[in-house]
Amino acid sequence: MDHFLYNGGKLHAEDVPLSRIAEAVGTPFYCYSTATLTRHFKLFDEALQGMDHLVCYAMKANSNQAVLRTLGALGAGMDVVSGGEYARARAAGIPGDRIVFSGVGKTREEMRMALEGGIRQFNVESEPELERLSAVAASLGLSAPVAIRINPDVDARTHEKIATGRKEDKFGIPISRAHAVYARAASLPGVEAIGIDVHIGSQLTALEPFEQAYGKVADLTRQLRQDGHDIRRLDLGGGLGIPYTRGNQAPPLPSDYGALIRRTLGDLECEIEIEPGRLIAGNAGLLVSEVVYVKQGEGSDFLIIDAAMNDLIRPAMYGAHHDIVPLVEPEPGAPTKPYDIVGPVCESGDTFAKGRELPLLAEGDLLALRSAGAYGAVMASEYNSRPLIPEVLVNGDQFAVIRKRPSYEEMIERDTIPHWL
Ligand SMILES: *Cc1c(COP(=O)(O)O)cnc(C)c1O
Repeated sequence: MDHFLYNGGKLHAEDVPLSRIAEAVGTPFYCYSTATLTRHFKLFDEALQGMDHLVCYAMKANSNQAVLRTLGALGAGMDVVSGGEYARARAAGIPGDRIVFSGVGKTREEMRMALEGGIRQFNVESEPELERLSAVAASLGLSAPVAIRINPDVDARTHEKIATGRKEDKFGIPISRAHAVYARAASLPGVEAIGIDVHIGSQLTALEPFEQAYGKVADLTRQLRQDGHDIRRLDLGGGLGIPYTRGNQAPPLPSDYGALIRRTLGDLECEIEIEPGRLIAGNAGLLVSEVVYVKQGEGSDFLIIDAAMNDLIRPAMYGAHHDIVPLVEPEPGAPTKPYDIVGPVCESGDTFAKGRELPLLAEGDLLALRSAGAYGAVMASEYNSRPLIPEVLVNGDQFAVIRKRPSYEEMIERDTIPHWL
């Protein structure tokens, strides 16, 4: 459920007509709903009620400062994957003891930054990383709290590019190495292995892969405890999928996911962390764009809109589907026709949808691409020298620009000219 609904014939974000925001900031722009972000965070938090837990929002999904502050005020922790994300989380007021650090390629500088600034735990992804983290922490006279990410060899049955838990994927250590790696950790001066981490992929639409992975985590917890390791925290990753298409069968709810966690891991008396990203932010945002031209095609007509693949790359990168709706509510029974919806970028990959049935549209009409709050703005680029588009946050009847559109001058000024030119 989200808070983008038609009211009086106009698509609203909460109590604000999106057309009013379009007038104020120009198109294209991203728009996020505070009520939806809040609702989604609370669904996870409530799903784990009664268990010692922390919901660490995977901020790579949407790392705008205003989004982080909204979630931080609700008690969210953050899952960060770079020094930049760590800095963003701290700048948004998230305390270090609510930040977990994931990622396969942490550098010495990133480790030092998090150790000095405060960190809840590092999710360590390899043996060389464990050695390096110990050396960096020991050199600072510290001991780094660590969960080791295990690769459970489970197929998340999701898109190839976002499956992370199969043995051929680059993430985590093979479960067969776990005993040796935890033993090594115990012998190192600068790390303390306190937990186990797992994350098997993104946009999962069934619970079975989670169940398989968490079952392996439960077994491993018992075995490592027998080996003498004090495993007291389990980080279960993110990955629960969202409905990108209205009306189709929806993925499992956070409450079902919480029940699964309770059933598979509840008796271990561990502190539970989860790292949802997409489900918190995805359906809390949309991308508003204007029709620039309607161009006759050989098959469908083209709607050439002012948003492009550089603003939202998911269709080009993953073949992803986004529902597309007009900002003016179509009359019931109004005629429709199939359109190919494309952006202005000079690549055929710059296509948002093919043969999409929409009411008849004309130049200047406004559209919304739904489910664009996660992996949207954060993956944007300035390809074709199209400045990054603004982001807007709505809260009830108020809205605010939370990242402004840079001018062409600001975009160009980031380049510097060498002395010989
Ligand atoms: C991307 C990622 C997440 C979030 O995944 P979602 O599908 O957005 O919930 C969580 N943990 C790790 C380690 C990730 O890489």
